[in-house]
Amino acid sequence: MINRRNLIGAGVLGAGGAAASFLTPDQRTTFAAPNISRNRRELSMVTTWPDGLPGLGEAAMRVARRVSDMSDGMIEIKVYPAGTLVPPFESFDAVANGSADMYHGAEYYWTAKSTAYPFFTAVPFGMTAKEIMGWIDFGGGQQLWDELSAQFGIKSFQAANTGHQMGGWFRKEINSLDDLVGLQMRIPGQGGDVLRALGGSAKALPGGEIYQALQTGNIDATEWVGPWNDYSLGFYREAPYYYGPGFHEPGASLAVGMNLYVWESLNPGEQAIIKAACESVNHTSLGEFTHFNAVYLDRLQREEGVQLRSFPDDVVTAMAVAARDVRASSGKDGIEKRIYESFESSLKTMRDWASVSDGPYYAARQLGAEAEG
Ligand code: CA
Repeated sequence: MINRRNLIGAGVLGAGGAAASFLTPDQRTTFAAPNISRNRRELSMVTTWPDGLPGLGEAAMRVARRVSDMSDGMIEIKVYPAGTLVPPFESFDAVANGSADMYHGAEYYWTAKSTAYPFFTAVPFGMTAKEIMGWIDFGGGQQLWDELSAQFGIKSFQAANTGHQMGGWFRKEINSLDDLVGLQMRIPGQGGDVLRALGGSAKALPGGEIYQALQTGNIDATEWVGPWNDYSLGFYREAPYYYGPGFHEPGASLAVGMNLYVWESLNPGEQAIIKAACESVNHTSLGEFTHFNAVYLDRLQREEGVQLRSFPDDVVTAMAVAARDVRASSGKDGIEKRIYESFESSLKTMRDWASVSDGPYYAARQLGAEAEG
């Protein structure tokens, strides 16, 4: 491939960039047109994920690789894991102010920017992975998301989904609502607000800081993702009770946010490549999490002696009631209210559909599995 640097190195271009005078006019025209007019783009991507994290960290790397592949190397994205360019939770500001071109992270980390951001990751008792894809792509979610993020100079895309998350790792069993009172737990987003409403204390630590907080007793419990990603961070060594399912994150959607000025500087073909790369990673990651969560749940139980638990019914009911209020308080006016109302409206119709499709199917399959023995 001939690029500008090769041309300068070969002495074809002068220092000022003009074609050297020893070329004839014909040579200049035929030689210069196709190559020099194509601008190779190098973009930077900061992430909220620790270096080398499977699943989420890999999703960010995949976006970069696919953009490079699809553009035949004309758009290269350099990925900076959490803390290598900016601290993980400063990724949003870095992209908004242009010191990075894009981020890969969870929108609910930006709740301080807008209380509506959690609706684009996951909210307690909200949408599953395929439901949030339905709302964002077909139920008006993307338009509202674009409007919200444009206020900060950012363009947003779905760019990974973990599927159903687990309720978290606990040192002690949760047998009643009293066991949540005073509980110090790492749980971000609206899930944290639900825990606070029930008397617990919620912290939003980035992934790379959780294990040490658990080990030193700064927190009593943590949620992270699911069996696969949780295994890689080793929480089972500190907290033996693994609660599921995670009512707080029924299908966490992760995002790429791109600096709006950079986005608008791309031509339609380049924009289509960014969009297609993000969509394809959203697809790949959901399959990947679904497969590996199943594999690692088995491994955690058989090899690490992890004990599975489910929350008692009265705890689930109290969480659901608190979750409804937390969702409502996140959408009181302005764009936040419109996002909340759009989300709730989609959630209600999807809940009705799930009540005759996914819900009964899973119950029936489980009944069959038990009959099989
Ligand atoms: Ca989580």
